[in-house]
Amino acid sequence: MIADNIQKIKKNLPKEVTLVAVSKTKSVNAILEAYDAGQLDFGENKVQELSQKALELPKNIRWHMIGHLQRNKVKYIAPFVHLIHGVDSARLLNEINKQAVRNNRIIDVLIQIHIAEESSKFGFSFQEAETLLTQNESYQGVRIAGLMGMATFTNDENQIQKEFNALADFYATWKVKQSFSVLSMGMSNDFALAVNAGSTMVRIGSLIFGSRN
Ligand SMILES: *Cc1c(COP(=O)(O)O)cnc(C)c1O
Repeated sequence: MIADNIQKIKKNLPKEVTLVAVSKTKSVNAILEAYDAGQLDFGENKVQELSQKALELPKNIRWHMIGHLQRNKVKYIAPFVHLIHGVDSARLLNEINKQAVRNNRIIDVLIQIHIAEESSKFGFSFQEAETLLTQNESYQGVRIAGLMGMATFTNDENQIQKEFNALADFYATWKVKQSFSVLSMGMSNDFALAVNAGSTMVRIGSLIFGSRN
């Protein structure tokens, strides 16, 4: 079932778009089923759950931290995390840098941009992100690999497309200068619109593993 779902999604994704299987709340066995189908990128949104699963599961899995990350928890994932999607403050970026240096690593991160109408979602405004990127501070332990965003939770496809397009435009203006390679946008309900706008990485949970409790 899980393998079939992955297959179906991949058929609808351009080859160059990376599929991150969002496995939050799902069991180690469910993840193994996806892994056995060839899936290596998995996303989690809680540090403790991510760390526990990383301990129990094969070492070649690439773990993506996709949720809001508290600074005091960065140290738990810094030794192994593959990509941190939700960098939403300069202070968090500094902490990731510090922990990366401590672990002798360069950690790839994405700057999260607030593109949705909802006020509850985390992220920089375009203007704040521009300020951060213009400072052009060099981090020894962090590589800003690109941007991440979540569209408004709505049935209005025009609204969603507009938000993804805005993020894609902003990404395009910084891509060369910053050597960006990742634009993370698109979930189960809106990934087709995200890919349409130029997403290079989609984060899909319920369409692979079924709905969460
Ligand atoms: C849960 C989550 C997803 C996946 O959501 P689905 O609708 O199940 O595909 C993607 N991105 C983030 C940041 C999430 O928290």
